[in-house]
Amino acid sequence: MVVILHRQHSESSTGAAVDLDGDGVLATWEREYHLTPIYLDAMASVLAAHGVEVLRCEGRPYSTWHEWACQEAAARPGVPVAYCAAHLNSVPGGQSLSWMFYDRRSHGGQRLAEHITETMTEAGFCTRAPAAAYDDRTDSDAPWLYNPLYTIRGIYSGPANLSGVCLEPDTVQHLATLGSQQAITRRLAHLGAVMAHGVLEWLRERAG
Ligand SMILES: [Zn+2]
Repeated sequence: MVVILHRQHSESSTGAAVDLDGDGVLATWEREYHLTPIYLDAMASVLAAHGVEVLRCEGRPYSTWHEWACQEAAARPGVPVAYCAAHLNSVPGGQSLSWMFYDRRSHGGQRLAEHITETMTEAGFCTRAPAAAYDDRTDSDAPWLYNPLYTIRGIYSGPANLSGVCLEPDTVQHLATLGSQQAITRRLAHLGAVMAHGVLEWLRERAG
């Protein structure tokens, strides 16, 4: 069983950012690109402890990493491979919100998103139902679902043992309510451990 963890955004385009500790300075650690590795490290630890092979990559272009993920999955026929695109959401208001996105075409991706959401709900996190991302510029409801699709869209063309999910386990505005960098780090590590157990459920289901 294999899990590919992709730290998305990049050094030059760091994603969502807020002044998490309220000191009036937007520091490097307060940017999405520098926060997601905290939960990714926790995911990797839990997965490795359960005998899962963990592959990691970071940055852009996403399409290149999607091709690489497809090749890695093709090199392991019949072995379930989960690809996780790592993000944090930006939603004004400061509420806690976990949200998983999958490619509307992908049944495996849907199951992966469902397992992670279920595990997070059981752990007491505030979750939304998994959302099917798709690209239909004629649908006025759809534009907001294009961004999450972009994070995983090259995965669907890969082999059948590969499925992808876009992780949005919390909002940066909620992290800002936690009070300290230490509390934020603890929260992100907890989120990562719980998401890893959801991924494990999916891997076991796929492995039959
Ligand atoms: Zn992002």
